[in-house]
Amino acid sequence: MLFSKLVGFYERIEAITGRIEMTNLLVQLLKETPPEIIDKVVYLTLGEIYPPFIGLELGVADRLALRAVKLASGMSEREIDRAYKELGDVGLVGERMLAKRSQATLFMEQLTVEDVYSALEKIAKASGEGSMETKVQILSGLLASAQPKEAKYILRIVTGKMRLGIADMTILDALAIVFGGGKEARDLFERAYNLSSDIGYVAKVAAQEGLEGIKKFKITVGKPIRPMLAERLSSAEEILQKIGGKCIAEYKYDGERMQIHKRGDEVLIFSRRLENITSQYPDVVELVKQHVKAGEAILECECVAVDPETGDMLPFQELMHRKRKHDIHKAIEQYPVNVYFFEALYVDGKDLTLEPLEIRRKTLESIIEEGERVKLSKAIITEDPNEIEKFFHEAIEEGCEGLVVKALGKEAIYRAGARGWLWIKLKRSYKSEMMDTVDLVVVGAFHGRGKRSGTYGALLMAAYDKRKDVFQSVCKVGSGFTDEDLQKLPELLEPYKIPHRHARVETGMEADIWFEPKIVLEIIGDEITISPIHRAAWSMIKEGYGLAIRFPRFTGRYRFDKAPEDATTTDEILEMYRRQLKKLTPTPPGGQEVT
Ligand code: AMP
Repeated sequence: MLFSKLVGFYERIEAITGRIEMTNLLVQLLKETPPEIIDKVVYLTLGEIYPPFIGLELGVADRLALRAVKLASGMSEREIDRAYKELGDVGLVGERMLAKRSQATLFMEQLTVEDVYSALEKIAKASGEGSMETKVQILSGLLASAQPKEAKYILRIVTGKMRLGIADMTILDALAIVFGGGKEARDLFERAYNLSSDIGYVAKVAAQEGLEGIKKFKITVGKPIRPMLAERLSSAEEILQKIGGKCIAEYKYDGERMQIHKRGDEVLIFSRRLENITSQYPDVVELVKQHVKAGEAILECECVAVDPETGDMLPFQELMHRKRKHDIHKAIEQYPVNVYFFEALYVDGKDLTLEPLEIRRKTLESIIEEGERVKLSKAIITEDPNEIEKFFHEAIEEGCEGLVVKALGKEAIYRAGARGWLWIKLKRSYKSEMMDTVDLVVVGAFHGRGKRSGTYGALLMAAYDKRKDVFQSVCKVGSGFTDEDLQKLPELLEPYKIPHRHARVETGMEADIWFEPKIVLEIIGDEITISPIHRAAWSMIKEGYGLAIRFPRFTGRYRFDKAPEDATTTDEILEMYRRQLKKLTPTPPGGQEVT
């Protein structure tokens, strides 16, 4: 197919603004395109050469493109600069300059779509030292063989400024008309697109196999599936009503969503926005190889930063260290991650997206070998709003954002690319900061792992209840300890070790080691939340719940000057919680969402 023919369509499309007219022109273009190159035509029309998830961009800046124009046209730099200032569009500059060029173009061979596509591909793939020069050379060669109008579009594509106003969805409309017999087939085409995120590939399957090919459209390992999204409600009752009474409630981990594609030993990781982020997570690639017992699989998980010493989950922001390209190996050590799997979309040749959630979850269970760093999302199946609420507070306390409550039953398929009422998130509607430090008593400890084996991984801390004269737990703290602290603590606590929970200690947590309440440490946290596990101010705010400090850290101050009874009281914690509530500002819509 001649490139000039494609350019003819682009000229007409550029001149119109209505979507219907645009679709009609696209229909005509697709009808006249040979099936073998329809994918290329679709990519070029969108100003791309590959689907975005490939992550290979043309990357030519305007300056560089203008140099190629100079080489191809023989015009002076001054003249080109002047035109660029006047027109502000590299495409138009190229068109004008090439129209003025001195060499005869009469007997020039006409460019085909393939010629243009393969030159652009070479430009995209040129990398490393000297690649800018290579890009300019290839581009100027291409422009030298192009007619002025062709040059206009080549330059716009190469600089990422095609902007014909055509979106993937408009192309889907046109494909449904040309190959599906009308708009009624649109849903089938959309599904194919949602399963591959590759509009060029959908066009090719349609052109070569017709509507049958689209109906039987197959998932491909390596092409990301557009993610299913969740709606949001603010109470467990509402959610259960909406979802049909019974649900599976899962922790909503505060990390980065990953779609993992595995074929043998080859592993690709896509972000929620379907960017290839494999290079940021070599450790996750290894975990997948070790823990996913399937030859081929497409799975979804949430990747969460954890404290290397305690294994506790850390807030989402800690994953930012992975975004820097250098020092990724340092980041892996300093900011390790856990992965929590929640979906199986494709396993060993079987498309699971139309299977109900129970089946997908069972399949997931059968292929994931859990370990310290790899787990299935924590989940319960329930019909009881109180149980959901309790689970919600546990999730918050462990560092999660809340829950994703999911529908069960035959209808509960994986709706690729859609937000719907099959998944509903339950998050807190507010968040506020804890300002003051508190002095808490050590009442228990947990064995450390990794660098902390042989010492404590975390301590169980309690506040003092004056009225009952007991110590009630408020948090488990593992952060803020220096190596020196870790060495010192076992020595310091040894004299107070006892074989079971102290009679004056109240907690819902099982510590590995128990202590007589003696040593007081200064602690700061992010905020105070209600908790089904910790016992401070038990049932004062809500029946069956206490208060807890979220994301607690040791400040470095040992309060030897304080007796345990001088520790922060549970009344004070209660007061802090109430003050915190008063200060609350509602979350702006979508404000803290990790999406
Ligand atoms: P949204 O993106 O607003 O639709 O909310 C859902 C997001 O929660 C997903 O994109 C995931 O990143 C995240 N998430 C965390 N845990 C889960 C889970 N167990 N199931 C589904 N999504 C989860």
